[in-house]
Amino acid sequence: MLITDQKEESNLSERDLSGMLKFREKMSITDLDLKNKRVLVRVDFNVPLDEYGNITDSRRIRMTLPTIHYLLNENCRIILVSHLGRPGGQKSEDLRLAPIYKRLKEYLPFVRIFHAPDCVGPEVENMVKNLKKGEILLLENPRFHPQEKDNDPIFSGELASLADIYVTDAFATAHRKHSSTYGVCPYFKQKGYGFLMEKEMKFLTHCIEKPKRPFTVILGGKKVEDKLDVIKYLIGLADNVLIGGGMAYTFLLAKGYSIGKSVRDLTRLDNIKYYLKEANNYSTKIYLPRDVVVCDELDYPTEIKTVPITEIGDEHVGVDIGEETIEIYKKILSQSEQVIWQGPLGVFEKKEFENGTREIARYLIEKEIFTIIGGGDSAAAFEKFGFQDEVSFISTGGGASLEVMRGVLLPAIECLSDK
Ligand code: ADP
Ligand code: MG
Repeated sequence: MLITDQKEESNLSERDLSGMLKFREKMSITDLDLKNKRVLVRVDFNVPLDEYGNITDSRRIRMTLPTIHYLLNENCRIILVSHLGRPGGQKSEDLRLAPIYKRLKEYLPFVRIFHAPDCVGPEVENMVKNLKKGEILLLENPRFHPQEKDNDPIFSGELASLADIYVTDAFATAHRKHSSTYGVCPYFKQKGYGFLMEKEMKFLTHCIEKPKRPFTVILGGKKVEDKLDVIKYLIGLADNVLIGGGMAYTFLLAKGYSIGKSVRDLTRLDNIKYYLKEANNYSTKIYLPRDVVVCDELDYPTEIKTVPITEIGDEHVGVDIGEETIEIYKKILSQSEQVIWQGPLGVFEKKEFENGTREIARYLIEKEIFTIIGGGDSAAAFEKFGFQDEVSFISTGGGASLEVMRGVLLPAIECLSDK
């Protein structure tokens, strides 16, 4: 007996893209009257930091530079706001934007940039008042205030009162209804999206609206829940779905294989059984690994070997896809015209378990197959291998790109001005 409800089932064939496509009706930065204005720009500078607080990947900062340059050309006073990490509504010294401020100054050496001690309040208002045309003020982490995540209207109003116009370039947070991404919008007459947001949306919507076929989606990583929601929408849309990573084990379990001590999400087992069955009624083929790399212990493995999926022992932890699977997946990819990849195929952070992710990444680049990478960890894998500049496009937002793939209009875009 499957616990998947009827409502969910009926969604499989009906794919409504009208929501997603509404973004084309929204104002972009080039539609706004920006000359000499004070502009609040929501960016997503939520970059990964190492244990010393150094930025390990600054793509999210670099990718917003076209928007910042455009505003500088328009002689704007620029007020940047971004969260960093999850301070839980409290001040946290480790999650101040100081490293980002430093990096920003390196990228924009001829611009005067200031860093506010907070994102609202009299001191910040004063700094905004003193800000001159062509200068930038970086606000402090809005998530130091619980009101940010609560989308509190008073807090949103305070934030909005700092500027005349609102621009959002925070694709990676665009699926969240927070004060700085959503709540501020009603307070602005003019609000539009920036160049990064535009680029992200164009790549993704194009792939979903008019997929070049065969269209293959690679799903890995370990967050089964997020990605499962997307599989529902891929059935009937994608031609092939290649499953790997931690996700694969719940799928293997659903098919009746033993998975030893590998990660699993038992709450999703029935949904998976249903999707595997349902995919047969559509032209979508879902592929599971045929062999996997297993070890005895993830942190300090003493034994590592490749086994067919029929031979995963009780003592085994599955950590990567095996050679046979890599070959099968490569064959499917070689015939694909378009690929979206969400989630690494193994525990790529460890050298011993990176092979599947690295081999598939290398193959896509070598064969010049059009590929969009979504998901923070998938992007990190490409960075680790040094492939980041060779792949067609790396999205700055995992969760947000999954939402777009479902065909919904992201809240942070929905609240912008219509053209
Ligand atoms: P993304 O951020 O790309 O969407 P996820 O956040 O869902 O991906 O998952 C990424 C994580 O999944 C990585 O840290 C990786 O080590 C882990 N992972 C991949 N394969 C496995 C596996 N077999 N077992 C446990 N974790 C895995
Ligand atoms: Mg992740």
